[in-house]
Amino acid sequence: ADLALYRAKAAGRSRWQGYTRELRDALAVRRALESELRRALGSDEFELYYQPQLALASQRLAGVEALLRWRHPVRGLIPPGEFIPLAEETGLIVPLGVLVLNLACRQIRAWREAGLTPPRVAVNLATAQFLNGNLADTVAQLLAGYDIEHAALEFEVVERTLLDRNQGAVLEQLTALHAAGALIALDDFGTGYASLAHLKLFPVHRLKIDRSFVADIHRDPGDEAIVRAIVQLGHAFGLEVIAEGVESVAQLEFLRLHGCDLVQGYLYARPLPADEISAWVRDGRRPPEAQALPGRRSEG
Ligand code: C2E
Ligand code: MG
Ligand code: MG
Repeated sequence: ADLALYRAKAAGRSRWQGYTRELRDALAVRRALESELRRALGSDEFELYYQPQLALASQRLAGVEALLRWRHPVRGLIPPGEFIPLAEETGLIVPLGVLVLNLACRQIRAWREAGLTPPRVAVNLATAQFLNGNLADTVAQLLAGYDIEHAALEFEVVERTLLDRNQGAVLEQLTALHAAGALIALDDFGTGYASLAHLKLFPVHRLKIDRSFVADIHRDPGDEAIVRAIVQLGHAFGLEVIAEGVESVAQLEFLRLHGCDLVQGYLYARPLPADEISAWVRDGRRPPEAQALPGRRSEG
């Protein structure tokens, strides 16, 4: 009965739901994944892939987004969409988030030790990371341990995080991170409910146009209008605007025409393991071998 109640609530309430075998099986799968996730936290199965972000005007590498991958010994490479939501529901995202920060710092250190000047690394943060312990302190300690300054990092948060009922705690932590020199980007912008007042209140530096809008440029006049409006809105607030999910030259040209500052997407590169992105990091731009292969696939 409890399972059925849980499902009815998750499906939006005000509905009926009976107990089914399928519900029980789904719970078993979930429990198994949760205990696997717990086990994996103590292993070295997690790694970061990095996706280039390019400045449109100069075509130079402006940053890389760190995207989590789970290399499971039996199931192979598991994309974040399959375990981050569960990690968020169970609170495991808090230790997992620390692990991500550690991996990112370790990579920045490794690049520097190899004589490279890595671009800013963008790390995604989940809401729970703002509400458990002191995130800004955790970040500061980690960075100090690797002898890295805050300006080496950017943090991506989604609109939902700014709207949390513990908004005060989120604001405090973001303000501290920003004051220390990190950049803050609003991820998946346009899909949530953040209002203009939030852009004024939070120390946001960059808007990230959600890839669903970019995908339908040239197919949906509504999406074209949204993209143009986000660029204008961002610039009116003195913010940079980056488009994610850029897959075609036509999308790129539209974004360029409308003054978007940065782009990220398969047109340039998929998220790549650290060793495959080092040529980008070394040259500060797309390596020649990748230019011949637009949108080359590295990930399956
Ligand atoms: P996100 O932060 O919005 O990341 C962008 C997603 O778009 C990535 O999916 C990336 O691989 C994908 N992408 C980039 N360019 C293109 C493109 O041209 N076309 C298409 N179709 N997709 C593109 P990914 O790596 O599967 O990550 C999915 C989501 O998982 C991320 O969305 C983020 O919300 C979450 N995530 C990933 N790593 C972390 C992490 O370390 N911490 C937290 N809290 N969340 C993470
Ligand atoms: Mg992101
Ligand atoms: Mg996004």
